[in-house]
Amino acid sequence: MQTRIQKIDMRHPDAAVFREAAAVLRGGGLVAFPTETVYGLGADASNENAVSRIYTVKGRPADNPLIAHIASREQFFEMTEDVPAYGRALAETFWPGPLTLVARKKSNIPDWITAGLPTVAVRFPAHPAARALIEASDTVICAPSANLSGRPSPTCAEHVRRDLEGRVEMILDSGPVEIGLESTVVDVTGSKPQILRPGFVTVEMLASVEASAIVSYDGMGVSAPKAPGMKYRHYAPRADMTVVTGDPRRAAREIRRLASLSLQKTGVLATVQTAGLYDADRCLVLICGDRDAPETFGANLFAALRKFDDCQTEVIFAEGIPETGLGAAVMNRLKKAAGGKIIEV
Ligand code: AMP
Ligand code: MG
Repeated sequence: MQTRIQKIDMRHPDAAVFREAAAVLRGGGLVAFPTETVYGLGADASNENAVSRIYTVKGRPADNPLIAHIASREQFFEMTEDVPAYGRALAETFWPGPLTLVARKKSNIPDWITAGLPTVAVRFPAHPAARALIEASDTVICAPSANLSGRPSPTCAEHVRRDLEGRVEMILDSGPVEIGLESTVVDVTGSKPQILRPGFVTVEMLASVEASAIVSYDGMGVSAPKAPGMKYRHYAPRADMTVVTGDPRRAAREIRRLASLSLQKTGVLATVQTAGLYDADRCLVLICGDRDAPETFGANLFAALRKFDDCQTEVIFAEGIPETGLGAAVMNRLKKAAGGKIIEV
């Protein structure tokens, strides 16, 4: 299959491009498109065949449900029932934006978008291209991240092309995304909101709307993950990766020591503050961001992991950052990419 790669200039958006992409979706095709979090791989939610192709082209496990993307809050209430007052308040406060709400689904919502679950995950994205595409399609668009299953999520169209060229009809390219980490997933089926996946909307931001917000993704040791996707290896580079957490100078010293012992092609995921402490002759040192600005990590993390792959890196040592604010989402992705291999110094 020939994949059409269509550049879009969001300063002068061309409505004809969104109409064409919408026609591809309505015809059962797959369109990768930008959102503010990562690039998504979209299919018409009402078309079972199209949705099942998402699973095939990504190699996604059949029990991992998709996020339904909408272009108005009303669509959320049309798809769901028994949404508590706090769920409405979260939708009011954070939509459009990088928040996915998991709510009880109405009986007319097909099983093929929820992997058979009685709940449906819904997001109203803020990115103007995503909104224009959903509006032009006049349907709900199911979309997971537009990467091969298990690989780091795509933060630019080139990442999508490398994973999916020849397997999807179209890729809309509006340049690099802003946030670079997937949406925060919050379950609103219980008496309190439960954070199933951390993201740009932090626990602190959620608590400002609903003080009882509880964290239940793994890595925080609260309970087994309720988001099916969280049980799979995710975001992983090909290299064997270890995260070193603790005092930054001590962590850097430990990484230096481990890197000096390594006989394989070694990479270091560093911070602005510590990059100079590593031996750039011995290993590939990539600066992921500024430890005092976790959003810089979010924006660069997946691209850095892909860069290590491109350079055939075999072993990666990554510095941890504090798990406060957006740091919680960054560390969740880092730990998953490392398959849970963490050294605390
Ligand atoms: P991705 O689109 O690749 O970012 O994955 C979507 C995430 O949302 C995965 O972690 C899914 O398991 C999660 N998700 C989707 N639908 C539900 C649902 N009904 N209940 C819980 N988690 C869900
Ligand atoms: Mg994904």
